[in-house]
Amino acid sequence: MTETTPHDHPPHDAGGRFAAAIDQHEHQPAHWEKEADAIRMLLADRRRRFFTTDESRRVQEQLDAATYWTVPYYERWILAFSSLLAEKGAVTEAEMADEEERLRVAGAHRIEGEAAGGHDHHHDHDHDHHPYQEDDDAATTELPPLRLRGLAVRNLLLAKGIVTAEEIRAEIERMDGRGPENGARVVARAWTDPAFAARLAADAGAAVGELGLSGGETVLTALFNTPRLHHLVVCTLCSCYPRSVLGRPPAWYKSRAYRARAVRDPRGVLAEFGTVLPEGMELRVHDSNAELRYLVVPARPAGTEGWDEARLATLVTRDSMIGVTPARAP
Ligand code: FE
Repeated sequence: MTETTPHDHPPHDAGGRFAAAIDQHEHQPAHWEKEADAIRMLLADRRRRFFTTDESRRVQEQLDAATYWTVPYYERWILAFSSLLAEKGAVTEAEMADEEERLRVAGAHRIEGEAAGGHDHHHDHDHDHHPYQEDDDAATTELPPLRLRGLAVRNLLLAKGIVTAEEIRAEIERMDGRGPENGARVVARAWTDPAFAARLAADAGAAVGELGLSGGETVLTALFNTPRLHHLVVCTLCSCYPRSVLGRPPAWYKSRAYRARAVRDPRGVLAEFGTVLPEGMELRVHDSNAELRYLVVPARPAGTEGWDEARLATLVTRDSMIGVTPARAP
């Protein structure tokens, strides 16, 4: 297949376009990434509603392709929410520039060690060349411009009372507390309680509420794997993910390679995760969006007859609920 040029599509439209292998490196988010995540979620929450997911994407999608794919993920989020705050008059460009200057004068634009914050960006990994300016003694590094902007916007939001430090802290804790163990409880309940499975199939958001979980602010749909049908979930346009039941998405889920190849070469993607579907099994790929999220309910492994819910939940991995692997064998 011929690679299309960046001019044929907006930069975010990755579906089917790129051929690289998927970097499955597990990247634990740094504090600044968690903070950017929290601020973005707070600004868009039911109380503040400064912007929608589609508006946040619109800012990012206006970038040229080279910038879109090289700026680290959470720096793109900082770009999006700072631009939208300026657009809506909540924080002005002048205020942001002044605060950045104040931080620079105070020396807060330098941090100890390397500033590079994530492995989910796609620059060439050339370790002889550091992307950011360094001190002679290499003890501190200058923050990339969007990281400095993130600090400035956070300070301005606090000063204006738009968000509080306590809200940011609580939101980070809330997301830290949401992980695949939540989805695993849902799957284990569905495996052991057919009536619950039926309710989960009919209205997943309501059904997860029975376990004290949130279905999130979007429509949640459960996809049940069967001996004849396997489901795989992607967001080709950005990174939509069932955060309320699985937590923050892994870096690979947000990567260009996964977003592109999950729709073009889904069996090749599964093979990279060590999953080979039996001959004749149907594979359906589901593309998430700003209003709709998917949770895969993997097939219950053989040899687990008589297991209780808690024990079954230990077999339900994050990757099995995205659909790249089956549930763990007992
Ligand atoms: Fe998305």
